[in-house]
Amino acid sequence: MVPAPLRDLADRPDRCCLNTATLGHREPIAVTAQRVAAAGFGWITPWRREIDERQPAREAAAIRAAGLRVRSYCRTAYLAHASEAARRQAVDDNRRALDTAAALGARELIAVVGGLADGSRDIDGSRAQILRGLEALMPAIESTGVAIALEPLHPFYTADRSLLNTIAQAQAWCETLDPEGRYFGIAVDAYHVWWDPLLAPSIAGAGPRFRALHVSDWLRHTQEPLLDRGMMGDGVVDLRRLRAMVEATGFDGPVEVEIFSRDRWWKEDPDVVLRTCRERLDTVC
Ligand code: ZN
Repeated sequence: MVPAPLRDLADRPDRCCLNTATLGHREPIAVTAQRVAAAGFGWITPWRREIDERQPAREAAAIRAAGLRVRSYCRTAYLAHASEAARRQAVDDNRRALDTAAALGARELIAVVGGLADGSRDIDGSRAQILRGLEALMPAIESTGVAIALEPLHPFYTADRSLLNTIAQAQAWCETLDPEGRYFGIAVDAYHVWWDPLLAPSIAGAGPRFRALHVSDWLRHTQEPLLDRGMMGDGVVDLRRLRAMVEATGFDGPVEVEIFSRDRWWKEDPDVVLRTCRERLDTVC
């Protein structure tokens, strides 16, 4: 079978999304939205820290006024905890995030599920807690109409941020939680999954589950794996190949830039960052 050609991103704001982490959360969302729209993006994915969740309608209006649509909302609170009270609190917090996501017009809440419960070495027990926490969100997903996109994180983050680490595992969790595909999908982030020897079959097997595609790059000599992500094209990831695999499953959402880069891009003029991101989407993604 001849693979379908990649969708063209040039002059297509409707196919390009900016995750605001890329700019380091330095400015109010209204200012960020103006810049993002001016750089040729049609979508934005904001983070909870920059949205006033007491008045999401006002934030939504500011984003709309800039000419952008909200794609996803970042992100869930971690779900494995030492006490029942803390686990319940996390679920409540995630319900509030779903409410805000709905008010913003987001299609999905991105789930970073959390690592081991504090003080625990019980990896299976913590994973079971996470699954129960996700399950408890189904009524809120139903009532808000906002899905949850499970984002597997690179295994580096297993202890403290995510016990969900591969596309195949995310697909298995989706099947367990939601066989019909109404509530849970998958966010694939190039930075987190590029190393996986089973990437191609895992993506093909997850089919219609994909709800988000995040791009950045893994720098060959990365200084540290949390806040030293590379600009697309500056690292080792074959981003076009990844996008081709995801689009071959029928994914037609925007390509979303998400770069955590404390010492490089977060220190750069935001308009320069955005211009560079937009160019690299066209040339290497
Ligand atoms: Zn991501």
